[in-house]
Amino acid sequence: MVGYNLLMTSEEKYLGKLILIVGPSGSGKGTVINRLKQSFAGFVFPISYTTRDPREGEEDGDSYHFVMKKKFEQMIENGEFLEHAVVHSDNFYGTGKEDILGPLRDGAVIVREVDMQGFHSIKDLIPKENLLTIFMKVSSLEDLRGRILRRGEMSEEELQKRMDSTLKEIAQADECDYQVENKWGEIDKCVGNVTTIILDEIKDLYE
Ligand code: 5GP
Repeated sequence: MVGYNLLMTSEEKYLGKLILIVGPSGSGKGTVINRLKQSFAGFVFPISYTTRDPREGEEDGDSYHFVMKKKFEQMIENGEFLEHAVVHSDNFYGTGKEDILGPLRDGAVIVREVDMQGFHSIKDLIPKENLLTIFMKVSSLEDLRGRILRRGEMSEEELQKRMDSTLKEIAQADECDYQVENKWGEIDKCVGNVTTIILDEIKDLYE
């Protein structure tokens, strides 16, 4: 309970639910979130900040706010992040504090993907009843390796970093509330399972 005092005054109450989709790079978090966006127009999907370069086809403000390291460091100093982390040992990623807490106070359902460090930070900051965490499992490491490579050009070193983070993330999967498998070629089933969990977990918000 310690961390809550950092964010909430005694009168403040969160009415909504923050849903974190976690899991290794290439496990399909982005695809699942895009599908949820199509199905749930009323949910809030905040955009995080990163210092990594945009990939081909990525626009600023679409998948991320792409910022320079100096700007990111300034934002850390100003206390603008709910959490931030260095992911795959090079780039910074961070969720804007008010992007999450504002809608959470208002009773919204918020969906965001973060890495395992983000999950751990947020778990200590948001009350359990306002948080739902879903881990995306992959069927095999070889499958995952293929998916990461299909995303585009990547050095052997970069790939190795992602595979190393993956092993660490998989070892912590059971800290999440649910685990959903994303088997190659079965994305519809995976999205269906995630949707069922979410609908069941948010029904008390509308009672
Ligand atoms: P990518 O660069 O492939 O979009 O994301 C790399 C990793 O960073 C993914 O595991 C993704 O879930 C994670 N990530 C994306 N946004 C955030 C964020 O705001 N905070 C944290 N801690 N991780 C994030």
